[in-house]
Amino acid sequence: MTPPTDTQLAQPDLHETSEFNKSKSAAEAAGAGLHWINTFASLGPDFYSELEPRPLPSPYWVGRNRAHARELGLEENWLESSEALAALTGNQLLPGSRPLASVYSGHQFGVWAGQLGDGRAILLGEIETPLGPQELQLKGAGKTPYSRMGDGRAVLRSSIREFLCSEAMHGLGIPTTRALCVTGSDAAVRREEMESAAVVTRTAPSFIRFGHFEHFSYRNQPAQLKALADYVIDRFYPDCRKAKQPYAALLQAVSERTATMMAAWQAVGFCHGVMNTDNMSILGLTIDYGPFQFLDAFDPGHICNHSDEQGRYAYNRQPNMAYWNLFCLGQALLPLIDNQEDALGALESYKTVFPQALQARMRAKLGLPDEQEGDTELIEHTFRLLASNKVDYTIFWRRLCGFTPQSGHELVRDLFFDRQSFDAWALSYSERIAQITPALRADLMLKSNPKYVLRNHLGEEAIQAAKLKDFSQVDTLLAVLQSPFEEHPGHEGLAGFPPDWAASIAISCSS
Ligand code: AMP
Ligand code: MG
Repeated sequence: MTPPTDTQLAQPDLHETSEFNKSKSAAEAAGAGLHWINTFASLGPDFYSELEPRPLPSPYWVGRNRAHARELGLEENWLESSEALAALTGNQLLPGSRPLASVYSGHQFGVWAGQLGDGRAILLGEIETPLGPQELQLKGAGKTPYSRMGDGRAVLRSSIREFLCSEAMHGLGIPTTRALCVTGSDAAVRREEMESAAVVTRTAPSFIRFGHFEHFSYRNQPAQLKALADYVIDRFYPDCRKAKQPYAALLQAVSERTATMMAAWQAVGFCHGVMNTDNMSILGLTIDYGPFQFLDAFDPGHICNHSDEQGRYAYNRQPNMAYWNLFCLGQALLPLIDNQEDALGALESYKTVFPQALQARMRAKLGLPDEQEGDTELIEHTFRLLASNKVDYTIFWRRLCGFTPQSGHELVRDLFFDRQSFDAWALSYSERIAQITPALRADLMLKSNPKYVLRNHLGEEAIQAAKLKDFSQVDTLLAVLQSPFEEHPGHEGLAGFPPDWAASIAISCSS
């Protein structure tokens, strides 16, 4: 196959095309008051297949994120309407939207997997919002040309998990795709057992993945690769355009954003579970929530994905896996970068940004406003102590907010079976914090150590109730997890230790 010439793939002018004007006028007539711009579509048909979502029978609301609807500037009460229910299940097209499934490839579990693509996610298009342009995507909206053996659907269980977790991550201040709502249908979906269908409406400035770049690189389509990189630079990394090597600068900027995201994951104890290159966002957003888990007891080697037999994506391997994925991105971008050294240099930034960002996060968790010699040792000491005592990660940090050298030891000490080791650690911590104003430290710690995270058992309880059409726990969890650093009187139970049965929850890739 001869690669198309540059002229066939000239960078579209995103704001002047007739398509833009056409969609805008159509959108203004729409009930939601949406202004569609659909810039991804302007990349051209090599990047996607246009198609419509496939309807589901008798949809109902499972969860609605009204706060996000307000942030997006959606018309007041639109999310209460039957038009929204139909549109966000994929049963009715919003005027101005231009639905498509994008094509990408990727490395899965370390192996080149070839073409993947949006097998069940359909991009409705992109809208102007007070948050800036945002893409709206329906996950579980039916088969696409990239569905391979899949049915194009998502089940209620995994949709609730994605909905709640993306909002929990946002509440924690961690970059992520967002979720506007989940709708359900009693249509049967076959997984290990029969389940019912659901659709999550996700939003993000872009859903472009490392795998989009790998796709055109492996197919030897340099013009498309360049068009994609130019699109991403112009829209999301405009400073890279000013660099001597814009594409190396892009690789460096993505490496830095990814490093920052990884530090945030590690600090909060988040395990993603499937860090394949098709699940890595070019914007450094947490994307594609599957078998994720927030750590209960601190176990550095914890594997949250039942299907990950080798532990490739174990908690303590995540930062290295992100770096591995960045290498794949670098490899894919090589045709656009003058020499290999520039690409390697761009990737190097990960090695400085990640440890710095992790240190900063851990210092904040410890309530240390400034950096001092010995902090790295104190942080490592803390991790070792938590691991050897298998201490509940979230509860430890939240209780530590009330620790002072004079008092508050008992609540924290109670979490350890090796009290001697704890006392030795508490002594060095007390020395380190001796000069810090207690109120200042407590304030920093309460903003850095969440009281509430989406533990597996909490999601599981909400899912079991939702299967019986009781969606109240989805609502409650959403509200609490959106402000996880606050106290939520009456919901302390959501901040407790996991029950014994939580250890037997097995979450696999099946979703
Ligand atoms: P994931 O593991 O969810 O990131 O999915 C990996 C690839 O499989 C992506 O290309 C998905 O679109 C596709 N996929 C996953 N589940 C399904 C499904 N039920 N139907 C069609 N494609 C799917
Ligand atoms: Mg995926």
